[in-house]
Amino acid sequence: MSPESVDDLVKGSPRPPKDRLIRPLMLMLALLLSSCDPASGTHQRIEGETMGTSWSAQWHDAELDPAWLAAAMEARLEELNRSLSNWREDSEISRFNHGRAHEPMQVSEDLQAVLDAAQGTYEDSEGAFNIALAPLMRAWGFQGSGLPRRPEAAEVRSLLPRTDLSQLKWDSRARQLTKAIDELELDLSALAKGYAVDALSELLLEAGASNHLVEIGGELRARGHRPDGSAWRVAIAQPASLSLSAQPTVPLHNLAIATSGDYQQFFEQDGQRYAHILDPRNGRPARSSTASATVVAASAMQADALATWLMVLDTEDALALAQQRSLAVYLIERLDDGYRIRQSQAMRLLRDTHRGSGITKPGR
Ligand code: AMP
Ligand code: MG
Repeated sequence: MSPESVDDLVKGSPRPPKDRLIRPLMLMLALLLSSCDPASGTHQRIEGETMGTSWSAQWHDAELDPAWLAAAMEARLEELNRSLSNWREDSEISRFNHGRAHEPMQVSEDLQAVLDAAQGTYEDSEGAFNIALAPLMRAWGFQGSGLPRRPEAAEVRSLLPRTDLSQLKWDSRARQLTKAIDELELDLSALAKGYAVDALSELLLEAGASNHLVEIGGELRARGHRPDGSAWRVAIAQPASLSLSAQPTVPLHNLAIATSGDYQQFFEQDGQRYAHILDPRNGRPARSSTASATVVAASAMQADALATWLMVLDTEDALALAQQRSLAVYLIERLDDGYRIRQSQAMRLLRDTHRGSGITKPGR
């Protein structure tokens, strides 16, 4: 790791009581949207709820009826949920999960796009990113009706074969999905939100809003620029217990950003912290000291998948990967006596451009 990638050492209590609370609202607030100057007159903002969180969009260059656009966005999100949601029994993905082995299923174009990215990241990460972890997520109490708990090692071992993604046969050209074992289940939570952000951004573009910022639960995509011609600028999410003197921000010009954190969903047992991102190779919550990984990429789905993958890796390995591939990555590392910010060179360069075009005001 190069010395340039080490930033400030941030002092503070690593685990004050408030950090133990799951605070989706705080998280959303943490990722403050940069807003445009209301004096420009055409700035519009709409919002709603989806995927257990909120969405919002803002634009300033097209005379679009906000109610009409909001309805179009809701309709697109409904379509996506019918395809990708693990929380709906009748979704395409749930039907596949309940289906039998060796029975090919024809899938939609939306599911095709998400499966292509999931399969690609699985291969690229040598299995660190894996969309077949649902049985383990339930065993650890992060999904389903059970409370978070540490399962017996034998139980974890017995579930590992059910999470073997090589048991999935994905023929993208034919859009056909087949499993080799009945028990294989897919969970798209690690990248579906990113895909939905990209889909909404596409919709805005088609509607004529070529300068916009769109977000779902803190994953964002920006196109074009703000009314004054400067890049959209967003704040980087951080744990509530980390108080930086200045809010870290990133300028986004035709780019997307996603954050994955171990402080969103976790429990503690016998002094050990267990968070909802699992290492598929041992079936246990990832042991890295990374508290959060923020990635800027061309698409929100790419950023979303990468952020989750980086959370599985050791902090040094995540940073080395980012350097090697010139990825713009901002990591918050948890230390015994505080946090440390680690940035890749690409993130540093990105943040250094457009410096001075500050946030005008929070979006919510
Ligand atoms: P995210 O918030 O985008 O990082 O996604 C986290 C969610 O992805 C978890 O709640 C799980 O449903 C799922 N997940 C957990 N571990 C992994 C992993 N190693 N690879 C892919 N998905 C995962
Ligand atoms: Mg993700």
